[in-house]
Amino acid sequence: MYFVERAMPGMTESPMSATDNRFTHLLATRPWLLADGATGSNLFDVGLMSGDAPELWNTEHPDRIAALHQSFVDAGADILLTNSFGGTVYRLKLHNAQSRMAELNALAAQIARQVADASGRTVAVAGSMGPTGEIMEPIGPLSFDEAKAAFAEQALALKAGGADVLWIETMSSREEVEAAVAGAGVAGLPIVCTLSFDTNGRTMMGISPSDFSAIEKTLSPRLAACGTNCGVGASEVVACIHNLAQAMGPEVVLVAKGNCGVPQYVDGAICYNGTPEIMALYARMALDAGARIIGGCCGTSAKHLRAMRDALEAHTPGPAPTLEDINARLGDVSNGARAQWGGEQSRAGGAAPGANLSRGRAARARRAGSDAGADSAGEGAGV
Ligand SMILES: [Zn+2]
Repeated sequence: MYFVERAMPGMTESPMSATDNRFTHLLATRPWLLADGATGSNLFDVGLMSGDAPELWNTEHPDRIAALHQSFVDAGADILLTNSFGGTVYRLKLHNAQSRMAELNALAAQIARQVADASGRTVAVAGSMGPTGEIMEPIGPLSFDEAKAAFAEQALALKAGGADVLWIETMSSREEVEAAVAGAGVAGLPIVCTLSFDTNGRTMMGISPSDFSAIEKTLSPRLAACGTNCGVGASEVVACIHNLAQAMGPEVVLVAKGNCGVPQYVDGAICYNGTPEIMALYARMALDAGARIIGGCCGTSAKHLRAMRDALEAHTPGPAPTLEDINARLGDVSNGARAQWGGEQSRAGGAAPGANLSRGRAARARRAGSDAGADSAGEGAGV
């Protein structure tokens, strides 16, 4: 059985055998891939209320989830992330829906699978897995084994629903990355993991791109791709991709899935200030900085994604952007990311103070009131 890809400009047509993994196949045959846009912020636009669990919409409003996926496929997405970011039992517990973990995750994958398979080309379904929302040992109560088990059961449910790849995102702590990857590993699918470097060039738990490079080499199983998502704006994401590329080398497949600008309160609602033009520029600069998979996080609509697709197709790859290019065209880069760019990896060299719980809590509280509201339960982490 062969899937025939519909010709799209910039795409290499190549048949895929039934035993191929769609995600692996796409990576092997295409110079870059377009991931999709936001889930939470786009669902708000069609009626999701702050504090609701988006995952419950997999049963309550599957048509709206499918319509969102369809809008991204129509805009040219090669990868659809499932509506399962808050799908671990720990996040679902906040909505008293933990007993429905397997059902809600499998449905999330099924809805995306149907849209992907009806597209007429190869579109990979990525099972989204976000943080549990619990602080892990030794700082918090959640043990490695408990976290691993929660991610493993979510991964198996996503696989049962038809996911091609497991997509761990918006992570911030080393312990949770290790538990999520180990848990996802039980499903035997390719694994992608992205962190949110949203605190002066580091995650809110203090991980720098250089730290992530060291962690990535020790993970089991190894990742198919890794990178950065969400965060504090396009300039910071592109600088982060540069810093990840420097640390990890050219053989690692990097993912940039940055927010559509910076979240702002306007008339009591969250807005993102990124225009399609800015996102198109971000996509090209992320590619030249070293990313091979590019998409949008919070605030990114199908309209933005279409502009990114068009920009990438029309783009002739060029030299990596300089810090000055990024500053001039996308906006300021944090002192921490700037110091890392210059080769300074120590916290004393200008990067964030690092793994500091009170700081992490403050960041969570900030995000719970802003972009993360975009997801479930006010636990900070937006996608
Ligand atoms: Zn986001």
